[in-house]
Amino acid sequence: MVTEFDASAQRDPLQQFLSATDAIVDAPLLTESDYVRNVLEFANTKNPADLHALRTMLVSGVKLQGQVYFHALQDQLNPHLLALREKLEKQVETIRTDTRKARADLADEVRRAGERIAIRPSYIVTNSGVEIFHRHFPADLEAAVGYALLLLLDPTRGYGSDLCRCKLAECGRFFLAIKPPTGRPRRDYCCAEHLEAAREKSSVDRVRAFREREKAKASRRHRTRRL
Ligand SMILES: [Zn+2]
Repeated sequence: MVTEFDASAQRDPLQQFLSATDAIVDAPLLTESDYVRNVLEFANTKNPADLHALRTMLVSGVKLQGQVYFHALQDQLNPHLLALREKLEKQVETIRTDTRKARADLADEVRRAGERIAIRPSYIVTNSGVEIFHRHFPADLEAAVGYALLLLLDPTRGYGSDLCRCKLAECGRFFLAIKPPTGRPRRDYCCAEHLEAAREKSSVDRVRAFREREKAKASRRHRTRRL
């Protein structure tokens, strides 16, 4: 039997949205900062399985782990994802190096993305009160990426000013400044290993430069003696 309420619910787009998105999920929801970090990760990786997994996660609004990779492995390499990643890498680099240009270039894209995301609160009642989380429902990957670009461009949030790129030549990953419990944030290298690798490389370079200088001096002395 179809009640009057059911019939109107089927016609009402908001009711349709609410019932379509009503499923209770146990997995943690992606927060604003998760969107920024995962979109940076999307710009960083060239591995098709990772790109697929990140797309699934960003569009679902839920932190997914192993199960995403299972589906990703069955997918073929998707040229659309690779093209989107390449475009995103350029956009993020513009945000990092020239925010004013990025604001002008990306204004339309970011506005369109903002119009294509729904955000729905979910509540957890605890002993001390009610905790409210928000689940994002981007219409597709482009909407999710646009949302993260918007967050990166917003001067009132710190993401844009925290945006860094690893200086190790063979890395070049985007990351948000790493803030240790004490001391200054680290902005040069994406991880401790790359900081260490850069230090080793510069000490090897110093040793090599020293040896070359010594060799040059020795050969000059040698020439002088022969004269
Ligand atoms: Zn790195």
